[in-house]
Amino acid sequence: MEDRIKKTGAEIYSSMEGEVPFLFDRKKWMGRVIEWAMKDETFRFQLFRYIDVLPSLRSDALIVKVLKEYFTEESHAPVILRKGIERISRSGSIPYFAGKVIRAGVESIARQFIAGRAQGDALKPLSSLWKSGFAFSVDLLGEVVVSDGEASEYTGNYLSLLDFLHPEVTGWETDLLLERDDKGPVPRIDISLKVSSLYSQMDPVDLKGSIERSKENLRQIFRKAQEVGASVCLDMEHYYFKDLILAIFKDILDEFKDYHFAGIALQAYLKDTKEDLLGLIEWTKAKGRRISVRLVKGAYWDYETAANRQKGWPVPVFLNKGETDVNYEELTRILFSNSEYIRPAIATHNIRSMSNAIALVESSGFPRNSFEFQMLYGMGEPLRKTLRDMGYRVRVYSPVGELIPGMAYLVRRLLENTSNESFVRQCFAEGKPFEELIKTPNSGRAVVADLREEGIFRNQPPMDFSQAENRKRIKESLRKMRNDFNRRYPLSIGNQEIFTDHEIISNNPANPREVIGRVSLATRKEAERAIEEARKAWDMWKKRVSGERAEYLFRVAEEMKRIRSELIALEIYEVGKTWKDADGDVSEAIDYCEYYGREMIRLGTPMRLGDYPGEKNEYHYEPKGVGVVISPWNFPLAIPAGMISAGIVTGNCIIFKPSGLSPVTGWKLSEIFRTAGIPPGVLQFLPGPGNDVGEYLVSHPGTDFIAFTGSKDVGLDIVKYAGEIRSGQRSIKKVIAEMGGKNAIIIDETADMDEAVTGVLESWLGYQGQKCSACSRVIVIGGVFEEFCSRLRGAAESIRIGLPEDPGTFMGPVISEEALKKIGKYVERGMHEGRPLLLRKAEGAGYFTGPVIFGDVDPGSPIAQEEIFGPVLVVIRARDMDEAINIANNSLYALTGGIFSRSPASIRKAEEGFRVGNLYINRKITGALVGRQPFGGSGMSGVGSKAGGPDYLLQFMNPTSISENTLRRGFAYSVRSPKK
Ligand code: NAD
Repeated sequence: MEDRIKKTGAEIYSSMEGEVPFLFDRKKWMGRVIEWAMKDETFRFQLFRYIDVLPSLRSDALIVKVLKEYFTEESHAPVILRKGIERISRSGSIPYFAGKVIRAGVESIARQFIAGRAQGDALKPLSSLWKSGFAFSVDLLGEVVVSDGEASEYTGNYLSLLDFLHPEVTGWETDLLLERDDKGPVPRIDISLKVSSLYSQMDPVDLKGSIERSKENLRQIFRKAQEVGASVCLDMEHYYFKDLILAIFKDILDEFKDYHFAGIALQAYLKDTKEDLLGLIEWTKAKGRRISVRLVKGAYWDYETAANRQKGWPVPVFLNKGETDVNYEELTRILFSNSEYIRPAIATHNIRSMSNAIALVESSGFPRNSFEFQMLYGMGEPLRKTLRDMGYRVRVYSPVGELIPGMAYLVRRLLENTSNESFVRQCFAEGKPFEELIKTPNSGRAVVADLREEGIFRNQPPMDFSQAENRKRIKESLRKMRNDFNRRYPLSIGNQEIFTDHEIISNNPANPREVIGRVSLATRKEAERAIEEARKAWDMWKKRVSGERAEYLFRVAEEMKRIRSELIALEIYEVGKTWKDADGDVSEAIDYCEYYGREMIRLGTPMRLGDYPGEKNEYHYEPKGVGVVISPWNFPLAIPAGMISAGIVTGNCIIFKPSGLSPVTGWKLSEIFRTAGIPPGVLQFLPGPGNDVGEYLVSHPGTDFIAFTGSKDVGLDIVKYAGEIRSGQRSIKKVIAEMGGKNAIIIDETADMDEAVTGVLESWLGYQGQKCSACSRVIVIGGVFEEFCSRLRGAAESIRIGLPEDPGTFMGPVISEEALKKIGKYVERGMHEGRPLLLRKAEGAGYFTGPVIFGDVDPGSPIAQEEIFGPVLVVIRARDMDEAINIANNSLYALTGGIFSRSPASIRKAEEGFRVGNLYINRKITGALVGRQPFGGSGMSGVGSKAGGPDYLLQFMNPTSISENTLRRGFAYSVRSPKK
């Protein structure tokens, strides 16, 4: 077999000798630029980033300005190129011409990979492919679909494409190789499509809903394809969508029982694909039908490795290219041996993989037309001619579309062609010897993806809702939690549970008639007792070594992991979080315990200062005493877990007053600490009215510090009360206060609009706009205002508002009737202060309200200045980046902020001038992770400390310096620091 593969390979190789794909043609300027890019990774990175931003630059002057930003200062661009660019940007009228030339240059590369801008333009290249003996598959390039309107448009484009192509191809000359395989006819028209573009809310967290709703558009395309006799292939996308796409494929085929030309792409770089393929084969056998399978290697390798590592999920792709090649050959074998059920399409530009397929077919005596090769438009042209001449059917995957939506595709192709691993690069650009190119792929030593070093902090991976067992777990917990509704919960002092006469009733904001629980309410009497217990316990607790105290936090984290789905279900009911938001809060709570535990181990070792003979200087941290933790309802587990764990791991005893709107989650948290064995008196759970018990605790002479997270007004009151010294008080109270925000995102003309719209949508409407980090102001620079607003409005109109327990819900209710009324008042005001761009209503038994956008708002008006804490957004225009930053900074708050821009100069300006605690560039501004984006603001947003960062614990301790004279009668000895 190996001999046969090598012989075939040699035949293919020799037949195309001397031919060079356009991209590597050094005689052309583009070939030379690509050659530079392949020599220098940084230049390659800069070049492709510039190509990516180019189509969205609306003026020639901007093209040249951004060009200069990318390639002159500190650039890796070759000197000749750098000098040229500097000259262009210095000279007066040249930028106009230079802009045109650059745009034309990039368009000419795009034209090599993209068959046409519109279906009309594509006709010529498609018919010339056919005339030259090649079949085609058209892929309509599209933007990321963010709304139902965009999904309908994308669907409509396919319907019109099929209507357009049908009469056109009917007149083409017959080509039996392209139109028949060994089992019957093969359609002339073939289309490829991305299911994620058919439904804007597609997400496996809601598998059933995503299948049903994406099928609404897919069904129309299948119907039309059946009518005009076309074949349809579903492209495979990111791994997160894989199982969902497979499920949609099977589901739609169950509806189209007598349609025989459906196919799906599978990616050999995925470790799961063999199992998926075997599963598909079993399914086709059971259903008695035949499908096409396009076997590709996979185009999102960089994304899959980065995105999954970022989340802490297993990397689903092979890390070693050799493993993918080996898998490709094995999958090819499986496809061929099941050709009764599968029409194999071998989509590759690799001679070895092609020769393997040919050798397999020849050795098993199958006819040449029993399968087809597929190649991308503009790639490996010499190869496809050779295969055609050898008598194989070759289909050319031909993208059609405008340059902006096509950019993601184009950059993927450029990356692929120029990567070190690329066969096309090795073969055509590097002239690697044939023997190397054709040798048996070797999986080599498997690379381990997730090296987890002991003792190093890692974020808790978010729950992966593309996995069926995780979805099942949440559904079960939601069911179980319902049986627990209306239970009574005590308070806890010295680990004793106490039921009092008065209760806080916690209702489900999505349906206030449902009582989540009744929690005993503390009065000043219980508050007094709690302080006494805490003071008593402090003597014992402060003497525990830091490692031991940290151990308790690790146990708390373990317990949270054990009951994770139960906690998620509780938050869904008690505060109206969606599945993902609730999971985010639970994961963050776990992170705080894991992170602060490790931090305390670091800080617990006294620091040796100086190195002087006869003198020992040490720097220690001592706990402050008894602290009060006062928390809000919007992160009902993570925020108190963070403040409590920081307080106790540093050796303090804590009185925890939860928000009256999330007391059951507060109780659950205190129970977890007790389950983890926390000694009596270290943590008291004391729910009660903020302006009574809360104030009492803050003002009490027996408390030493307050860790507060909540609104500005309450926070400032706390600062004031804590500042008054009362009789019997032994220390000056420290207040750690984290408060509100009026967070802005700036969007400039170089922004990637897909990312800007989805980033703003999530930052604005995630948890109904009730995150302190939520975006409530957008500042748009230049000519993209209308486009941005219209796409954002479309997206906000399309999201699903409903019960948070329904996994398809994007937005649930706001927390309370009071919150609903407050939001309503701001909306009324907005009608006078701005131009309403969206006023979406929402209905339901609970506190539902829809997204609202006001445009052209005066940056100084109350709706642009005050924290609304709901789904209300203002959009403001700015002339340039300086003005945008001024508007953004013109706020009492300074919590989070963001910028969407691909201009290095604008990004630098924001880094230097945007005054916020957390600045985010080209991503959403919510979802800070412990240890990665330590969180907290300044101004009226807080005292400037950073939760989840390396300085946080220091606020809970007093540093002490101990200096010992070790000289005794002139004799110095060295002393080692004691172990803490
Ligand atoms: P809130 O200020 O109304 O309440 C916060 C806590 O303070 C509650 O436990 C409440 O009972 C208590 N409280 C109220 N009055 C008190 C008083 N006089 N003395 C002592 N305690 C008192 O805030 P909220 O509605 O629960 O939460 C939303 C607010 O929290 C928003 O402003 C949001 O921006 C802010 N927040 C900030 C951060 C951050 O890290 N910066 C994080 C989450 C929430």
